[in-house]
Amino acid sequence: MPVLRCGNWVIEGKSSSAVATYIRIKELDLIFDLGRCPMRFIGTNHVFISHFHLDHYFGIPIYISQRWLVGIPAGNIYVPLPGYKQLRNILNRISSLDGGKNWRYQLTPVETGDSIPFRKNLIAHVLPGNHSVPAVSYLICEKRKKLKSEYHNLSETEIIQLKRSGVEITYEVQLPLVAYFGDTHGISIDSHPLLKQCKLLICECTFIAPEHLDRAKKTQHLHLDMLPGLFKHFESEHIILNHFSRRYTPEYIQHEVYKRLPKSEHSRVQLFL
Ligand SMILES: [Zn+2]
Ligand SMILES: [Zn+2]
Repeated sequence: MPVLRCGNWVIEGKSSSAVATYIRIKELDLIFDLGRCPMRFIGTNHVFISHFHLDHYFGIPIYISQRWLVGIPAGNIYVPLPGYKQLRNILNRISSLDGGKNWRYQLTPVETGDSIPFRKNLIAHVLPGNHSVPAVSYLICEKRKKLKSEYHNLSETEIIQLKRSGVEITYEVQLPLVAYFGDTHGISIDSHPLLKQCKLLICECTFIAPEHLDRAKKTQHLHLDMLPGLFKHFESEHIILNHFSRRYTPEYIQHEVYKRLPKSEHSRVQLFL
């Protein structure tokens, strides 16, 4: 299982086009897509599904049933609205087939424009997907309180007194942490005002070979040659490329990506292989 580090975060899972994509950031208690479900992912509480291609959601029944089996409260699974009802029917049928069990699960439909608060201080913004089936992307932000500028010159005691008297001395800001594109042919940088500042961008790169540019367009995926134009908009400290086609060997991917991406991108780009 590939494991990458981006600052304090450990990014682990697997991502291979048409096989399976599941990526966990344990420190944020979240998983992006669940094409399979390794046992070590069971305890993670938030699952964000990008679209209903089997390699991105096939692990959901295992995630639900294993949590049920070991007595962990249901995890929160977010899925695109189109397909939500079908998935619910499928899960109910699987659980009844599995000895008539009544799994507890928490499935929430999402659509572009939604903002989902989770954990104490995180929020997932749902962005467009731009794929061959209805799809979404996610931007995870951290909510922080900041002191209003008019109180900057006050002493600690004065601030405490104001707070006690019920005056609202702070305002909320959001810090963009991670953007996850899922499968896509490209997403506008204007999809969200904070998108370009995300600390980590997880971006698919299904196709690499020059002769596969047409295929990328037809199947609504990204091609390596499209990435420099996309990345120039991002201020991200880290970029992870994932979802490579099985046509290519890891050696070929490694070689071509660093040969063809501008040198200025090399230090922030890692490959999820
Ligand atoms: Zn895929
Ligand atoms: Zn797909």
